[in-house]
Amino acid sequence: MSKLHSLSIAIVGAGIAGLTAATALARRGASVTVHERADALREVGAGLQLSPNALRVLDALDLWPRLQAVSVPSERVELRDSSARLVARLDLARYRPKDRFRLVHRARLLELLADAARDAGACILLDQDIATPPQADLVVGADGVKSRMRPLLNGPEIPFFTGQTAWRAVIPAEPGAQPAAQVFMGPGRHLVSYPLGQGMRNIVAVVERPDWRDEGWSQPGDPADLRAAFGHFGGPVPDWLATVDQVSLWGLFRHPVAAHWQRPAGQG
Ligand SMILES: Cc1cc2nc3c(=O)[nH]c(=O)nc-3n(C[C@H](O)[C@H](O)[C@H](O)COP(=O)(O)OP(=O)(O)OC[C@H]3O[C@@H](n4cnc5c(N)ncnc54)[C@H](O)[C@@H]3O)c2cc1C
Repeated sequence: MSKLHSLSIAIVGAGIAGLTAATALARRGASVTVHERADALREVGAGLQLSPNALRVLDALDLWPRLQAVSVPSERVELRDSSARLVARLDLARYRPKDRFRLVHRARLLELLADAARDAGACILLDQDIATPPQADLVVGADGVKSRMRPLLNGPEIPFFTGQTAWRAVIPAEPGAQPAAQVFMGPGRHLVSYPLGQGMRNIVAVVERPDWRDEGWSQPGDPADLRAAFGHFGGPVPDWLATVDQVSLWGLFRHPVAAHWQRPAGQG
């Protein structure tokens, strides 16, 4: 019998990390409760590129068939200048034939992980804005970049703004969209796009700016600002941006790598 059997585990945050940990721990027999601040697991986010390390974890949880059904393969990465001239090409299928890279909508991955966690017996509680660790034998902090659990191990700290903001949008994919991630690069900005399957194409447009002062980290954006910032880009970019009718704007934040990752119960 697993050592986790009959252990009560509280996970704070039902994001990608929280739901993956919940699935793995509940499958080993732990009694897992996930506490999520949001009042519903909504359709939030846009595209994600899943590299082989992420896929190995999903594989180990037997989730590969479910992931395959909601994602598309990525065969190459193309780096292009702002006029869309090819600068470099990384042929993932040719140089890493044993590794799999996939493209997926974040909402589809979250749905899949939430189903897997529930199937494994984990309980997901919504509308739980957790400020102090819940009662449990083990508490896992998976509450994202503005975590409240992290300072309990590492002292007070605030994530720093990287000087970059990102517009994210999903647009209809053109028929026969190439299974490739394309990066269009210009001074102080770049735009990444790839198909997501299910008739969708993902757009992430990153601009360097020093002045992000908002309270949250994601806001509704204006498609006109996005079009203006990338107005001089060529190739397929103008046609893609012409179809954007809804866009979100994110400040990109980071932490230094944490010094402490765990602490036995009852200490400190
Ligand atoms: C809404 C959302 C949309 C995103 N969209 C994209 C995207 O389109 N493309 C991309 O590349 N990356 C996106 N990201 C970022 C990406 O998902 C994360 O960088 C990555 O998944 C890190 O995973 P995580 O599980 O550590 O944290 P996150 O995915 O950030 O999940 C953290 C979870 O914890 C919850 N939470 C936070 N504080 C508390 C609290 N006090 N109590 C309880 N719950 C709490 C949050 O609501 C969230 O569900 C998004 C993140 C979020 C939260």
